[in-house]
Amino acid sequence: MKAAVVRDFTAPLTIEDRPVPEPAPHQVRVRVEASGLCHTDIHAARGDWPVTPSPPFVPGHEGVGVVEEAGALVRHVRVGERVAVPWLADACGRCDHCVSGWETLCAEQHNSGYSVDGAYAEYVLAHGDYVVPVPDGIDPLDAAPLSCAGVTTYKAVRVGGARPGSRVLVSGIGGLGHLALQYARLAGAETVAVDVTDEKLALARELGADHVVDARGTDVAAEVQRLGGVDSAIALAVSNESFRAAYGALRRGGTLVLVALPAGGTLELPVFETVLNGTRVVGSIVGTRQDLAEVFRLHALGRTRVMRESRRLEEVNTCFEEVLAGTVAARLVFDLR
Ligand code: NAD
Ligand code: ZN
Ligand code: ZN
Repeated sequence: MKAAVVRDFTAPLTIEDRPVPEPAPHQVRVRVEASGLCHTDIHAARGDWPVTPSPPFVPGHEGVGVVEEAGALVRHVRVGERVAVPWLADACGRCDHCVSGWETLCAEQHNSGYSVDGAYAEYVLAHGDYVVPVPDGIDPLDAAPLSCAGVTTYKAVRVGGARPGSRVLVSGIGGLGHLALQYARLAGAETVAVDVTDEKLALARELGADHVVDARGTDVAAEVQRLGGVDSAIALAVSNESFRAAYGALRRGGTLVLVALPAGGTLELPVFETVLNGTRVVGSIVGTRQDLAEVFRLHALGRTRVMRESRRLEEVNTCFEEVLAGTVAARLVFDLR
Protein backbone atom coordinates (compact mmCIF):
# COMPACT_ATOMS: atom_id res chain seq x y z
CA MET A 1 0.00 0.00 0.00
CA LYS A 2 0.96 3.61 -0.51
CA ALA A 3 1.85 5.62 2.61
CA ALA A 4 3.43 9.02 3.37
CA VAL A 5 6.19 8.49 5.91
CA VAL A 6 8.16 10.80 8.21
CA ARG A 7 11.72 9.46 8.32
CA ASP A 8 13.42 12.52 9.75
CA PHE A 9 12.13 15.72 11.43
CA THR A 10 14.24 17.83 9.09
CA ALA A 11 13.45 16.05 5.80
CA PRO A 12 10.37 16.00 3.52
CA LEU A 13 7.98 13.06 3.85
CA THR A 14 8.59 10.13 1.51
CA ILE A 15 5.92 8.20 -0.38
CA GLU A 16 6.56 4.51 0.25
CA ASP A 17 5.15 1.15 -0.64
CA ARG A 18 4.41 -0.76 2.58
CA PRO A 19 2.75 -4.12 3.24
CA VAL A 20 -1.01 -3.95 3.86
CA PRO A 21 -1.24 -4.32 7.68
CA GLU A 22 -3.04 -7.23 9.39
CA PRO A 23 -5.40 -6.36 12.25
CA ALA A 24 -4.84 -7.78 15.75
CA PRO A 25 -7.94 -9.38 17.39
CA HIS A 26 -9.14 -6.01 18.81
CA GLN A 27 -8.42 -4.05 15.63
CA VAL A 28 -10.01 -3.23 12.30
CA ARG A 29 -8.30 -2.55 9.02
CA VAL A 30 -9.78 0.54 7.39
CA ARG A 31 -9.46 1.18 3.66
CA VAL A 32 -8.88 4.95 3.76
CA GLU A 33 -11.06 7.08 1.47
CA ALA A 34 -10.18 10.53 2.81
CA SER A 35 -7.49 11.80 5.13
CA GLY A 36 -7.42 15.39 6.37
CA LEU A 37 -4.27 17.46 6.83
CA CYS A 38 -4.34 18.97 10.33
CA HIS A 39 -1.70 21.52 11.32
CA THR A 40 -0.81 19.02 14.07
CA ASP A 41 0.58 16.71 11.35
CA ILE A 42 3.08 19.45 10.47
CA HIS A 43 4.08 19.78 14.14
CA ALA A 44 4.43 15.97 14.27
CA ALA A 45 6.54 15.76 11.11
CA ARG A 46 8.88 18.49 12.42
CA GLY A 47 9.15 17.23 15.99
CA ASP A 48 7.81 20.57 17.29
CA TRP A 49 6.52 19.42 20.70
CA PRO A 50 8.17 18.34 23.97
CA VAL A 51 7.03 14.73 23.38
CA THR A 52 7.94 13.73 19.83
CA PRO A 53 6.87 10.73 17.75
CA SER A 54 9.52 8.17 16.74
CA PRO A 55 10.39 8.11 13.03
CA PRO A 56 9.67 6.35 10.83
CA PHE A 57 5.95 6.95 11.29
CA VAL A 58 2.85 7.64 9.20
CA PRO A 59 1.01 10.86 10.23
CA GLY A 60 -2.72 11.48 9.93
CA HIS A 61 -5.58 11.55 12.46
CA GLU A 62 -8.47 12.67 10.28
CA GLY A 63 -8.84 9.29 8.55
CA VAL A 64 -12.17 8.20 7.12
CA GLY A 65 -12.78 4.94 5.31
CA VAL A 66 -14.50 1.60 5.20
CA VAL A 67 -13.82 -1.32 7.54
CA GLU A 68 -12.38 -4.06 5.36
CA GLU A 69 -11.42 -6.61 7.99
CA ALA A 70 -12.26 -6.92 11.69
CA GLY A 71 -10.40 -8.93 14.35
CA ALA A 72 -12.24 -11.62 16.33
CA LEU A 73 -12.77 -9.42 19.41
CA VAL A 74 -14.28 -6.45 17.55
CA ARG A 75 -17.91 -6.03 18.62
CA HIS A 76 -19.12 -2.55 17.74
CA VAL A 77 -18.34 -2.13 14.06
CA ARG A 78 -18.90 -4.36 11.07
CA VAL A 79 -17.04 -5.01 7.84
CA GLY A 80 -18.35 -2.55 5.24
CA GLU A 81 -19.14 0.19 7.76
CA ARG A 82 -17.68 3.70 7.24
CA VAL A 83 -15.73 4.95 10.25
CA ALA A 84 -13.45 7.76 11.36
CA VAL A 85 -10.00 7.12 12.84
CA PRO A 86 -9.41 10.14 15.09
CA TRP A 87 -6.48 11.40 17.21
CA LEU A 88 -7.55 9.27 20.21
CA ALA A 89 -6.42 5.91 18.83
CA ASP A 90 -7.23 4.22 22.14
CA ALA A 91 -7.27 4.81 25.89
CA CYS A 92 -7.16 2.53 28.94
CA GLY A 93 -10.94 2.53 29.41
CA ARG A 94 -10.62 2.16 33.20
CA CYS A 95 -9.04 5.25 34.77
CA ASP A 96 -11.10 8.04 36.36
CA HIS A 97 -10.81 10.15 33.22
CA CYS A 98 -11.92 7.32 30.93
CA VAL A 99 -14.95 6.40 33.05
CA SER A 100 -16.07 9.98 33.67
CA GLY A 101 -16.36 11.18 30.08
CA TRP A 102 -12.82 12.56 29.80
CA GLU A 103 -11.11 9.73 27.89
CA THR A 104 -9.14 12.43 26.05
CA LEU A 105 -7.20 13.01 29.30
CA CYS A 106 -6.27 9.33 29.80
CA ALA A 107 -2.55 9.02 30.61
CA GLU A 108 -2.41 5.64 28.84
CA GLN A 109 -3.81 6.83 25.50
CA HIS A 110 -2.28 6.31 22.07
CA ASN A 111 -2.59 8.85 19.28
CA SER A 112 -3.13 8.19 15.60
CA GLY A 113 -0.38 9.49 13.37
CA TYR A 114 1.80 10.21 16.40
CA SER A 115 2.42 7.25 18.72
CA VAL A 116 0.80 4.79 16.27
CA ASP A 117 0.76 4.94 12.47
CA GLY A 118 -2.00 7.12 11.09
CA ALA A 119 -4.12 7.68 8.02
CA TYR A 120 -1.73 9.19 5.45
CA ALA A 121 -1.96 5.78 3.79
CA GLU A 122 -4.27 3.57 1.78
CA TYR A 123 -4.93 1.42 4.86
CA VAL A 124 -4.81 2.09 8.57
CA LEU A 125 -5.23 -0.17 11.60
CA ALA A 126 -7.47 1.10 14.38
CA HIS A 127 -8.91 -0.10 17.70
CA GLY A 128 -12.42 -1.43 17.08
CA ASP A 129 -13.77 0.36 20.18
CA TYR A 130 -12.28 3.76 19.32
CA VAL A 131 -13.29 4.26 15.70
CA VAL A 132 -16.44 6.36 15.32
CA PRO A 133 -19.14 5.43 12.78
CA VAL A 134 -19.76 8.01 10.06
CA PRO A 135 -23.49 8.36 9.36
CA ASP A 136 -24.72 7.57 5.84
CA GLY A 137 -24.98 10.59 3.61
CA ILE A 138 -21.87 12.38 4.90
CA ASP A 139 -19.24 12.81 2.20
CA PRO A 140 -15.95 11.22 3.39
CA LEU A 141 -14.16 14.41 2.29
CA ASP A 142 -16.31 16.31 4.82
CA ALA A 143 -16.12 13.62 7.50
CA ALA A 144 -12.31 13.73 7.54
CA PRO A 145 -11.91 17.36 8.75
CA LEU A 146 -14.80 16.88 11.17
CA SER A 147 -12.83 14.05 12.83
CA CYS A 148 -10.29 16.49 14.31
CA ALA A 149 -10.96 20.10 13.31
CA GLY A 150 -14.68 19.57 13.93
CA VAL A 151 -14.63 17.65 17.17
CA THR A 152 -11.82 19.75 18.67
CA THR A 153 -13.64 23.04 18.13
CA TYR A 154 -17.06 21.65 19.03
CA LYS A 155 -15.52 20.73 22.38
CA ALA A 156 -13.51 23.95 22.80
CA VAL A 157 -16.55 26.16 22.16
CA ARG A 158 -18.45 24.25 24.86
CA VAL A 159 -15.48 24.37 27.26
CA GLY A 160 -15.59 28.14 26.78
CA GLY A 161 -19.24 28.17 27.85
CA ALA A 162 -20.74 29.68 24.69
CA ARG A 163 -24.48 30.28 25.02
CA PRO A 164 -27.14 32.50 23.45
CA GLY A 165 -26.29 36.14 24.03
CA SER A 166 -22.64 35.52 24.88
CA ARG A 167 -19.81 36.88 22.75
CA VAL A 168 -17.14 34.49 21.46
CA LEU A 169 -13.85 35.31 19.76
CA VAL A 170 -12.34 32.80 17.36
CA SER A 171 -8.65 33.48 16.78
CA GLY A 172 -7.44 31.83 13.52
CA ILE A 173 -10.00 30.97 10.86
CA GLY A 174 -8.14 27.98 9.42
CA GLY A 175 -9.03 24.30 9.45
CA LEU A 176 -10.16 24.47 13.07
CA GLY A 177 -11.35 28.05 13.17
CA HIS A 178 -13.84 27.90 10.31
CA LEU A 179 -15.67 25.17 12.21
CA ALA A 180 -15.27 26.87 15.61
CA LEU A 181 -17.06 29.88 14.17
CA GLN A 182 -19.97 27.70 13.08
CA TYR A 183 -20.27 25.93 16.46
CA ALA A 184 -20.20 29.27 18.29
CA ARG A 185 -23.02 30.51 16.05
CA LEU A 186 -24.97 27.28 16.61
CA ALA A 187 -24.61 27.92 20.36
CA GLY A 188 -26.30 31.27 19.78
CA ALA A 189 -23.25 33.44 20.45
CA GLU A 190 -22.28 36.73 18.83
CA THR A 191 -19.00 35.97 17.06
CA VAL A 192 -15.73 37.84 16.53
CA ALA A 193 -13.36 36.29 13.96
CA VAL A 194 -9.66 37.17 13.84
CA ASP A 195 -7.09 36.23 11.20
CA VAL A 196 -4.17 37.63 9.22
CA THR A 197 -4.96 36.76 5.59
CA ASP A 198 -7.51 38.35 3.26
CA GLU A 199 -8.82 34.90 2.22
CA LYS A 200 -9.52 33.81 5.80
CA LEU A 201 -11.13 37.13 6.71
CA ALA A 202 -13.39 36.78 3.67
CA LEU A 203 -14.18 33.21 4.70
CA ALA A 204 -15.16 34.42 8.18
CA ARG A 205 -17.59 36.93 6.63
CA GLU A 206 -19.00 34.26 4.33
CA LEU A 207 -19.62 32.00 7.35
CA GLY A 208 -21.55 34.76 9.09
CA ALA A 209 -19.11 36.15 11.66
CA ASP A 210 -20.69 39.20 13.34
CA HIS A 211 -17.35 41.03 13.57
CA VAL A 212 -14.18 40.39 11.58
CA VAL A 213 -10.83 41.70 12.84
CA ASP A 214 -7.64 41.77 10.77
CA ALA A 215 -4.80 41.18 13.25
CA ARG A 216 -2.26 42.70 10.84
CA GLY A 217 -1.50 46.14 12.13
CA THR A 218 -4.46 46.15 14.53
CA ASP A 219 -4.48 46.04 18.31
CA VAL A 220 -6.94 43.14 18.47
CA ALA A 221 -7.50 43.37 22.22
CA ALA A 222 -8.27 47.09 22.09
CA GLU A 223 -10.61 46.70 19.13
CA VAL A 224 -12.52 43.86 20.79
CA GLN A 225 -12.69 45.75 24.09
CA ARG A 226 -14.48 48.54 22.19
CA LEU A 227 -17.22 45.95 21.51
CA GLY A 228 -17.34 45.22 25.25
CA GLY A 229 -14.88 42.31 25.26
CA VAL A 230 -15.69 38.62 24.82
CA ASP A 231 -16.99 36.02 27.25
CA SER A 232 -14.72 33.41 25.72
CA ALA A 233 -11.85 33.37 23.26
CA ILE A 234 -10.86 30.22 21.39
CA ALA A 235 -7.12 30.32 20.57
CA LEU A 236 -6.52 28.43 17.33
CA ALA A 237 -3.77 30.48 15.65
CA VAL A 238 -0.26 29.04 15.75
CA SER A 239 1.21 32.16 17.35
CA ASN A 240 2.09 33.23 20.89
CA GLU A 241 1.21 36.81 19.98
CA SER A 242 -2.34 35.71 19.15
CA PHE A 243 -2.69 34.17 22.65
CA ARG A 244 -1.82 37.52 24.26
CA ALA A 245 -4.31 39.28 22.01
CA ALA A 246 -7.06 36.76 22.82
CA TYR A 247 -6.38 37.10 26.55
CA GLY A 248 -6.56 40.87 26.25
CA ALA A 249 -9.90 40.65 24.42
CA LEU A 250 -11.70 38.98 27.36
CA ARG A 251 -14.38 40.63 29.48
CA ARG A 252 -14.27 40.25 33.25
CA GLY A 253 -15.17 36.66 34.10
CA GLY A 254 -14.11 35.57 30.62
CA THR A 255 -12.50 32.30 29.59
CA LEU A 256 -9.49 31.84 27.32
CA VAL A 257 -9.53 28.37 25.73
CA LEU A 258 -6.05 27.34 24.57
CA VAL A 259 -6.10 24.91 21.64
CA ALA A 260 -3.28 25.76 19.19
CA LEU A 261 0.12 24.23 19.93
CA PRO A 262 2.95 26.28 18.41
CA ALA A 263 6.49 24.99 18.91
CA GLY A 264 7.65 26.46 22.22
CA GLY A 265 4.16 27.86 22.88
CA THR A 266 4.01 30.06 25.98
CA LEU A 267 1.68 32.65 27.46
CA GLU A 268 2.79 34.89 30.30
CA LEU A 269 -0.15 35.88 32.50
CA PRO A 270 -0.33 39.11 34.49
CA VAL A 271 -1.44 37.83 37.89
CA PHE A 272 -3.06 41.05 39.11
CA GLU A 273 -5.43 41.38 36.12
CA THR A 274 -6.15 37.63 36.01
CA VAL A 275 -7.19 37.66 39.70
CA LEU A 276 -9.20 40.86 39.69
CA ASN A 277 -10.94 40.02 36.42
CA GLY A 278 -11.75 36.46 37.52
CA THR A 279 -10.26 35.23 34.25
CA ARG A 280 -10.21 31.53 33.46
CA VAL A 281 -7.53 30.01 31.22
CA VAL A 282 -8.16 26.42 30.18
CA GLY A 283 -6.56 23.95 27.78
CA SER A 284 -8.75 21.88 25.50
CA ILE A 285 -7.62 18.73 23.73
CA VAL A 286 -9.68 17.21 20.87
CA GLY A 287 -13.00 15.62 21.98
CA THR A 288 -14.43 12.26 22.94
CA ARG A 289 -16.05 9.62 20.74
CA GLN A 290 -19.40 10.95 21.91
CA ASP A 291 -18.44 14.51 20.93
CA LEU A 292 -17.48 13.27 17.46
CA ALA A 293 -20.77 11.39 17.09
CA GLU A 294 -22.57 14.69 17.88
CA VAL A 295 -20.41 16.56 15.36
CA PHE A 296 -21.34 14.05 12.66
CA ARG A 297 -25.03 14.28 13.58
CA LEU A 298 -24.99 18.07 13.28
CA HIS A 299 -23.34 17.80 9.88
CA ALA A 300 -25.83 15.16 8.70
CA LEU A 301 -28.59 17.61 9.69
CA GLY A 302 -27.01 20.21 7.42
CA ARG A 303 -25.98 22.57 10.23
CA THR A 304 -22.27 22.82 9.33
CA ARG A 305 -20.24 23.43 6.16
CA VAL A 306 -16.76 22.00 5.68
CA MET A 307 -14.61 24.22 3.49
CA ARG A 308 -11.99 21.96 1.96
CA GLU A 309 -9.99 21.16 -1.14
CA SER A 310 -8.84 17.69 -2.09
CA ARG A 311 -5.30 16.71 -2.97
CA ARG A 312 -3.33 13.56 -3.87
CA LEU A 313 -1.22 11.98 -1.14
CA GLU A 314 1.87 12.40 -3.36
CA GLU A 315 1.42 16.16 -2.94
CA VAL A 316 1.86 16.00 0.83
CA ASN A 317 5.03 18.13 1.03
CA THR A 318 3.67 20.98 -1.08
CA CYS A 319 0.43 20.72 0.91
CA PHE A 320 2.38 21.40 4.12
CA GLU A 321 3.82 24.52 2.49
CA GLU A 322 0.35 25.64 1.40
CA VAL A 323 -1.00 25.31 4.95
CA LEU A 324 1.97 27.20 6.40
CA ALA A 325 1.49 29.97 3.82
CA GLY A 326 -2.18 30.21 4.80
CA THR A 327 -3.33 29.98 1.18
CA VAL A 328 -5.70 27.01 1.52
CA ALA A 329 -9.49 26.98 1.69
CA ALA A 330 -9.56 26.10 5.40
CA ARG A 331 -8.74 22.37 5.11
CA LEU A 332 -6.82 20.17 2.66
CA VAL A 333 -7.97 16.55 2.41
CA PHE A 334 -6.11 13.71 0.68
CA ASP A 335 -8.55 11.84 -1.54
CA LEU A 336 -7.41 8.20 -1.57
CA ARG A 337 -10.37 6.73 -3.46
P1 NAD B 1 -4.40 26.22 10.23
O1 NAD B 1 -3.04 26.51 9.76
O2 NAD B 1 -5.39 25.64 9.28
O3 NAD B 1 -5.08 27.55 10.84
C1 NAD B 1 -4.38 28.53 11.57
C2 NAD B 1 -5.00 29.89 11.20
O4 NAD B 1 -4.45 30.90 12.05
C3 NAD B 1 -4.74 30.32 9.77
O5 NAD B 1 -5.96 30.71 9.15
C4 NAD B 1 -3.80 31.52 9.93
O6 NAD B 1 -3.95 32.47 8.89
C5 NAD B 1 -4.26 32.07 11.27
N1 NAD B 1 -3.29 32.95 11.96
C6 NAD B 1 -1.94 32.94 11.91
N2 NAD B 1 -1.45 33.91 12.71
C7 NAD B 1 -2.50 34.54 13.29
C8 NAD B 1 -2.65 35.59 14.22
N3 NAD B 1 -1.59 36.22 14.74
N4 NAD B 1 -3.90 35.95 14.61
C9 NAD B 1 -4.98 35.33 14.10
N5 NAD B 1 -4.91 34.30 13.21
C10 NAD B 1 -3.69 33.92 12.81
O7 NAD B 1 -4.22 25.24 11.48
P2 NAD B 1 -5.29 24.23 12.15
O8 NAD B 1 -5.21 22.90 11.48
O9 NAD B 1 -6.58 24.94 12.29
O10 NAD B 1 -4.60 24.02 13.61
C11 NAD B 1 -4.38 25.13 14.47
C12 NAD B 1 -3.57 24.72 15.69
O11 NAD B 1 -4.38 23.89 16.54
C13 NAD B 1 -2.29 23.92 15.42
O12 NAD B 1 -1.28 24.34 16.32
C14 NAD B 1 -2.70 22.49 15.74
O13 NAD B 1 -1.62 21.67 16.12
C15 NAD B 1 -3.63 22.74 16.90
N6 NAD B 1 -4.59 21.66 17.18
C16 NAD B 1 -4.89 21.44 18.47
C17 NAD B 1 -5.84 20.48 18.79
C18 NAD B 1 -6.21 20.25 20.22
O14 NAD B 1 -6.93 19.29 20.49
N7 NAD B 1 -5.82 21.10 21.16
C19 NAD B 1 -6.45 19.73 17.77
C20 NAD B 1 -6.12 20.00 16.45
C21 NAD B 1 -5.18 20.99 16.15
ZN1 ZN C 1 -5.82 17.51 14.36
ZN1 ZN D 1 -7.83 5.88 30.87
